[in-house]
Amino acid sequence: MRRFDGKRLLIATHNAGKLDEMRALLRPYGVEVVGAAEMSLPEPVETEDNFVGNARIKAHAAVKATGLPALADDSGISVDALDGAPGVYTADWAETGQGRDFGMAMERTWRELEERKAPSPRLAQFNCTLVLAWPDGHDEVFVGTLPGQVTWPPRGAEGHGYDPIFIPDGSDMTLGEMSAEAKNRISHRAVAVGKMLEACFA
Ligand code: IMP
Repeated sequence: MRRFDGKRLLIATHNAGKLDEMRALLRPYGVEVVGAAEMSLPEPVETEDNFVGNARIKAHAAVKATGLPALADDSGISVDALDGAPGVYTADWAETGQGRDFGMAMERTWRELEERKAPSPRLAQFNCTLVLAWPDGHDEVFVGTLPGQVTWPPRGAEGHGYDPIFIPDGSDMTLGEMSAEAKNRISHRAVAVGKMLEACFA
């Protein structure tokens, strides 16, 4: 496992919600976090059918464009009764052609569960796969998950993406109802970042 000894780390995401979460999670480690949008990075096409493949594409494209070490995240929600969908296609379910509509994506998730008459609880998990990549082509992979269930109607205005329909195990609130601090204590992203910090930054 390679240690990270740089001062600046590029976060290869254009998703403001993810970037805010990463910044908060890395703040205590004194690493200066740079966002992809600040560096005007292009968004590479995610052509793989698995989280790690897509995270690798994003991390290595960002390294190539900037010469900085880069951290990319590919994440999504997998619903058991939908055979793991939307999974790697979580963002695609929100695509409208004119930006992303997560209200539509959440409705589709619930509609498909209803159509399948899925029993309750409608179990699901968020997955976050992180790839930390260096300019010499080396990378390290870390995975975090957050188990829970899908609920309807959506609740809460915090967070991003599918947060308002997801209740983590052990909670009665959706992620959309939790403060950023509370979500960052348990989230799939926090779990993956925790593994990375322990392995590469501690
Ligand atoms: P990616 O940017 O290709 O990795 O797409 C990930 C998708 O999963 C995006 O649509 C996100 O909104 C969604 N997603 C990832 N993490 C979370 C989360 O913590 N809460 C809600 N939605 C998430």
